[in-house]
Formats: sequence, C-alpha cells, structure tokens
Amino acid sequence: MLQRLLSTLWHLLPLPCCLCGLKSDTDYNLCLDCQASLPWQQHVCQQCAVALPETAGISCGPCLQRPPMHTQLLAAFFYQGAIESLIYHFKFGQGLDTGLVLAKCLYQYLLTKPRQRWPDCLIPVPLHVKRLRKRGYNQAAELGKHLACWLSIPIHLHSCQRVHHTPAQTRIAPRDRRRNMHGAFKVSPQFKAKHVAIIDDVYTSGSTTRELCRMLKRAGVETIEIWVVARAGLGSRSGS
Ligand SMILES: [Zn+2]
Ligand SMILES: [Zn+2]
Repeated sequence: MLQRLLSTLWHLLPLPCCLCGLKSDTDYNLCLDCQASLPWQQHVCQQCAVALPETAGISCGPCLQRPPMHTQLLAAFFYQGAIESLIYHFKFGQGLDTGLVLAKCLYQYLLTKPRQRWPDCLIPVPLHVKRLRKRGYNQAAELGKHLACWLSIPIHLHSCQRVHHTPAQTRIAPRDRRRNMHGAFKVSPQFKAKHVAIIDDVYTSGSTTRELCRMLKRAGVETIEIWVVARAGLGSRSGS
C-alpha cells in the first residue's frame, strides 16, 4: 500500500532535466532549453550525414561518385558535446532512461524529414551474445523498441544475428574496420522485407552498417535507411 502510494507520488513529481537538473517541461527528462542547445544536424549529405555548405545539393561529392548501399542516413546529432556524454552514459552507464531521451530526440528528428513511406520494419544492429551478456542490453534495440512503438512499425530483434565476436570498431585502425566486420552478421532465411531501417546509436565510418546492408541486400531487401542518434568521425568514410 505504502509502496503504491510512493510510486504514485514519484510519478506525479516533475522530471528533472538530465543535463541542467532543473524541472523538465517535457514528458521525458530533458528540458526544452537543453534540447534546443544540443548539436542537431542541419544541412548535411543525405547519405553520409557530413555537413554541407548551405548552397550544396543533397549529397556530397564522394557519395555522388560512389553511392553507398543505403539510400539515406538520418542522424539527429553531430557526435559532440553533451550528446557524446549522454550516449556514453546510455551505453556504458546502464542509462536506459538516457536511452529514452535519445530515442525521443531521434524520433522528433525523423518527423522533420519529408517522406513518402515509412520502412516495413526496423532492424537494430545486433550485438554478439557475449557483448550482450556483458552489457545486459543492446543499446540499438532499446532505441529501436521506442521508435517501433511511437511509429507503429514492426521491429525485428532476432532476424539478424551477429555471429562473429569482433573487437570494438573504435579499437582498430579505420582501414582495418571493414575487414574486421566481414561475415559478422547472418540474416535469417525466413526474413522478408523490401524496405528497412537499420537502427544504431552512433554512425562513424559506416563499416558496421555497410556489412549489415550487404547481408540484407543479399536477403532481398531493396531499400535500406540508417537511423542513428549521432554522426561521428566526420571527414572520413573509411571507419563503424
Ligand atoms: Zn535542461
Ligand atoms: Zn555523403
């Protein structure tokens, strides 16, 4: 009885903002001022999310010359400042509440992009079972579950598996990342979809998603989008 009362009171309390600690005016713990101060992406290449001059077209030179396998990369933020610490807390500090805040930001960013149709399903980048056991959750799947619920799009948590336990991409040289990922994923033979969105927390050089795209294309997927919270490693297309 007392526990229920305390729980009700707790939920009636205004949420403190996870950045400034003041009362949050949203239904999650990030106030509108702090939200506006985050490094939102503005004019960027639609395929690799590098910043472009205001006068440029929708794709950068390297993407025009050598188009990637995915049709668009939607990253809510540049990986810098407060976003870097929020993602770190989400991934390594058991910060599932921070994951909710980041998912909400990504959701709001997705809604600002005009589109004809939404993907048939969402595919979070899978973690190898060893890393999953160590962390206790897959951060990409946590983001994906929120987005799937808010957008009413099915999420596939088991159709793609990570079959190789590869070293973390950040620990190896950019030129070795592609080789490190080769054969890392397996797509279930039952998986059928034409248009999917791969979900991850951070996009760096694209070697992880490139390998997943390769396997999804082989499984018959025609259109692949990549949705991430933040775009890191700008200036290079050789690195996760
Ligand atoms: Zn705040
Ligand atoms: Zn580009």
